[in-house]
Amino acid sequence: MLAQEIHTTQTQLGDRSTYVGMSDIGAAMECLRSAAARKLASPGTQPHTIPPQHVGSILKRHLPLHRGHWQEAGITDALTRSGHRLIPQLEISASFHRVPIKAHLDITLIHEAPTPVIRVLELKSNGHLPETLYTSNEVQLYGQIGLLESTWHRPCCSHRDEDGQPIFTRKPFPEAARLLFGINLPDTPEGVTIEGWVLSISMADAKAFGPYTPNRTMLGICCNTAADLWQAVNAVKAGQLALDDLPYCQGFHPLCDWCDANATCPKFRPMRVDGIPVDLGPAHAADLDHLAGLKERKLAIEGDIAAIEGRIRSAFQRIAAVSDSMARDWITAGRHRFRVASMPGRQTIDQSALQEELQALTGDPQTATDILERARKTGQPHERLFIGPINGKGE
Ligand code: SF4
Repeated sequence: MLAQEIHTTQTQLGDRSTYVGMSDIGAAMECLRSAAARKLASPGTQPHTIPPQHVGSILKRHLPLHRGHWQEAGITDALTRSGHRLIPQLEISASFHRVPIKAHLDITLIHEAPTPVIRVLELKSNGHLPETLYTSNEVQLYGQIGLLESTWHRPCCSHRDEDGQPIFTRKPFPEAARLLFGINLPDTPEGVTIEGWVLSISMADAKAFGPYTPNRTMLGICCNTAADLWQAVNAVKAGQLALDDLPYCQGFHPLCDWCDANATCPKFRPMRVDGIPVDLGPAHAADLDHLAGLKERKLAIEGDIAAIEGRIRSAFQRIAAVSDSMARDWITAGRHRFRVASMPGRQTIDQSALQEELQALTGDPQTATDILERARKTGQPHERLFIGPINGKGE
């Protein structure tokens, strides 16, 4: 898997240290230090031998990425076989204030008639489907479709085969479409509908977010972020700045658990005793490993429970729809029986409605606020244990 990862990066994305990619921009929007560290890390050329005791943790970090590559190949194949015209991994190169920027579009669907529609699909492999998109995903997509629209008539599109051999290099998008499919698109993007979609895929479900349309302001934000990142990386390379001088995301951020530069991040200031950072022995380390494992299992079990409950609930609905009585009676299965009942919704107090009512009664907004304040109850403060992986240790 590591070998395939290195091969795919080299053949499809080229030397990532020579440009700013859309995923770099998305990452920099979340945390500039993390994005810069990723660009500064030297890309591997050979997978190293992995000690058996570290295979599990490495699999956990790389499997989701690979699932994404496999899903991408499967979806590209399914769309191609069902007659869609598409370009996988289209590369768009541009430059903004002399900062080289590249976008790699997972799938670009082309519909020619009656009005041309170009749909850019960004595929995301998720353990669970998100309710909303991460900012970095949205920024990445805005950058892709913004660049497609703004470079439409310029020779910026390139495409390689699976082995990295060029199919065409530096063509305007309409010419690329003509070369690949023999179709004629307008020379300018006016009159063409360009849409961006993020397709989030889990093991058992999928969800599409969109459509997003090209937006000048969002493209400007992308380009400015690319320039910030490019300058930061070059300043660190030149020794004018240290990685730790760069801004990093504050407060809890899920990215930190996955960040390759989290081992030395100033955000996690170590506790010191007599000036020396505390590093506890193997007994505490084993407890933390065990606790982290239990939490992961708990998450997985909760996911399994939700999936099984969903299946049983839909089985009940199907049977109830054709049952003899209107009552939602019990259904037996082996040593258990089950039924789905309607439960009353949770009651909560609408704070702003109450504030308005109190204001109307007292005739004074301040009195209404004071009453609400006096009625507010705060629970006892409690302690919470935070644990997180230190990446790079043991890999
Ligand atoms: S650990 Fe978190 S805050 Fe630190 S660089 Fe990585 S993502 Fe940013």
